[in-house]
Amino acid sequence: MGHSVLLLPGDGIGPEVVAQARRVLECVAALHGLTIELDEANLGGVAIDREGAAYPESTRVKAREADALLLGAVGGPRWDALPAGDRPERGLLAIRADLDLFANLRPAMLFPQLANASSLKPELVAGLDILIVRELTGGIYFGEPRGIRTLENGEREGFNTYVYRESEIERIARLAFELASKRDGRVTSVDKANVLEVTQLWRDVVSQTAQAYPEVMLEHLYVDNAAMQLVRAPKQFDVLVTGNIFGDILSDTAAMLTGSIGMLPSASLNARSCGLYEPVHGSAPDIAGQDCANPLATILSVAMLLRYSLNAGDAANAVEQAVSRVLQQGYRTADIAAQGEAVVGTEAMGSAVLSALEQPQDVNA
Ligand code: NAD
Repeated sequence: MGHSVLLLPGDGIGPEVVAQARRVLECVAALHGLTIELDEANLGGVAIDREGAAYPESTRVKAREADALLLGAVGGPRWDALPAGDRPERGLLAIRADLDLFANLRPAMLFPQLANASSLKPELVAGLDILIVRELTGGIYFGEPRGIRTLENGEREGFNTYVYRESEIERIARLAFELASKRDGRVTSVDKANVLEVTQLWRDVVSQTAQAYPEVMLEHLYVDNAAMQLVRAPKQFDVLVTGNIFGDILSDTAAMLTGSIGMLPSASLNARSCGLYEPVHGSAPDIAGQDCANPLATILSVAMLLRYSLNAGDAANAVEQAVSRVLQQGYRTADIAAQGEAVVGTEAMGSAVLSALEQPQDVNA
């Protein structure tokens, strides 16, 4: 049966990197006998300009019907003067809520060829492959009541509510165990159960859920220790699962272990395995339209899309291997080039990945 994928190029470098990812997706589909119907829609600033809303109705209709969505990035200085509620980034929040994308998957992978790009010693990070699973639609970012109130003595007080229901914890834990069972079989659940009751419940529910996955090893870490371990010895982890706020912070820490934002893909999934796939970086307006953005984060997002929404693991592996191969062959965009290394542009990097996909026999060439 065919699959439908909706492309959302967005703003800034978004259209440039999505164009390369599209070529890769079309090529790998042909090579692996996948029927993929591609469509495009507007999201973010471009949608505001063309249709008057960051997440317009026409995009909503297509998004709800797609098996997976591939986003470039949204936002840019052009729209910065708009009121917060009308900005391009609202489109992203709206589509996440509309599709009920409750799980954010952020792999932190470091291709050995780029180990020198990390701020950590190469031996600590070379070959790093961890996956952070962050709950995305609950926790303190959404809890009610929230606000800033004025007390009787005139002093102002800010307050938020940290809340998780058992069902919310269970569904994210289940996903983490499923993912770990297809990787190295280890889950680290991150909480602050020594201080926060809500994360005591988190720990209980994750432990209960683990009983259905005897093949997966579970450990619990307090978030302060997890942060420390991530920069001390990151390769000890396989899958880390945590709530919204801790995940927000830890996934950015993990991203920096790899040294290059231009290499990092991400996925946000719902209970139907429909997902929104996007590079971790933003729209990089400073380099937009110059054919110098690194398309590999978006191309690696295609690999995640194939694996998690289209159930095409072989095709996903082929894309990741092709990326590894072009790095091995010495192709570098400016953001990942060491001093003195030759640099290629966005389109040339896309073409190099296509060649590597089409000629897998050149692996060791
Ligand atoms: P950014 O990630 O766009 O850029 C940060 C720096 O990294 C810039 O110097 C940029 O040139 C560089 N960079 C980013 N991606 C690159 C790539 N693929 N290749 C080479 N270099 C790359 O972050 P920012 O500057 O803070 O934000 C710019 C705009 O993007 C803002 O409007 C912001 O709101 C938006 N943004 C969107 C998303 C998203 O769509 N998910 C995420 C973050 C930021």
